[in-house]
Amino acid sequence: MKTLKITTFIACILASLFAISGTDCQAKKKDTPKYVFLFIGDGMSYNNVALAESYLSYKNGKMGGEQLLFTQFPAHGSATSHSANRRVTDSSASGTAISTGSKTNNAMLGVDPEGNILKSISFELKDDGYKVGIISSVPINHATPSSFYANNKSRYDYYAITEQLPDSGFDFYAGSGMIDYFGSDKNNPKESSAIMLEKKGIDVCFSIAEAKEAIAKGETPLLCQPYNKETEPDNYEAGGAAPEGHILLSEMLELALDSFTDKEPFFIMCEGGEIDWAAHSQKTMPTIMSIFEFDKAIALAYEFYLNHPKETLIVVTADHGTGGVSFSEDPDWKVMDSIWVASGQKNTLSRKDNKKMNEDNNIDWGSTHHTGEPVPVYAVGKGAEKFIGRIDNTDIKGKILGK
Ligand SMILES: [Zn+2]
Repeated sequence: MKTLKITTFIACILASLFAISGTDCQAKKKDTPKYVFLFIGDGMSYNNVALAESYLSYKNGKMGGEQLLFTQFPAHGSATSHSANRRVTDSSASGTAISTGSKTNNAMLGVDPEGNILKSISFELKDDGYKVGIISSVPINHATPSSFYANNKSRYDYYAITEQLPDSGFDFYAGSGMIDYFGSDKNNPKESSAIMLEKKGIDVCFSIAEAKEAIAKGETPLLCQPYNKETEPDNYEAGGAAPEGHILLSEMLELALDSFTDKEPFFIMCEGGEIDWAAHSQKTMPTIMSIFEFDKAIALAYEFYLNHPKETLIVVTADHGTGGVSFSEDPDWKVMDSIWVASGQKNTLSRKDNKKMNEDNNIDWGSTHHTGEPVPVYAVGKGAEKFIGRIDNTDIKGKILGK
């Protein structure tokens, strides 16, 4: 290894002496795939995935063994996720670890525990000429998406975080809406996040058609859910009760792919954020449905990968687990499924009734919080083998960059 480094070093000196293009030396230092997809299932523990696959097996008439697309990826590892000050991380510390390669304290975003600014992978790739897209099924200023474009000592400083979004210079944004839409001081509301962003050059769109228009005009869109216009984002949980006109995570990603094409290199971070929200409230079917929708978005990336297998990397991971679900006896999927179908695919049960339904059908939720076990990592494509085995979430950035 040492000899190789010295040889590369000498070759680079010789190249510069003879004025040969330095790009080869650059390439040896960093071998980033041309097209990068990073999928983060918020709260998507191994057991949450197992829950989804057990239900999928039931639907396919099997006892078990049916797989989502992403669990079939050839490279599989697991990542430890503790933060700098907690054994159980939150989304901002974990998002920061994944995006910057450095640990920070819970609730801190894109900064180290002392408050020093850390550089996200999205900015590094933007500097390298990549187009960058940030997509989430939850608000765009929530912890996971914002850890890719903002730096703040508090993840809860939502309006200030939103103000940083246009400064990123990234090319595509989509999320459900913006928390603290008018700032957190209710007695002294600021101009709405949409107006503030529009003034800074972001085209805030509330339908796919509007976003397509913005893209056609060469503007940077921030696509939000139509029902979150001029309001705080609705606390919608996937599969819970989708309001009229709801835009799916896969539709957001499809739009980003239409806009980016394969002409330029790109980096897309796509978060299945409502997996976490559904699991916090121990809603079994919404947790499963949000993982299914996450898998559907991944299928689009996989289709892209099949057309560009040598230049594409897809990484799927989670920031932490949520809900501590397990099934110690056979879950009664037949009953769970019939309740789900009869309710029109909504879970509006009270906390007590929801708990009873889970218990009656052998689905054991152990917590309403995050959980600290290692999270799954799946990868396919260029450099996917780097993700095999046991890693830490701070290793993900360097492995994507091909360092
Ligand atoms: Zn959470």
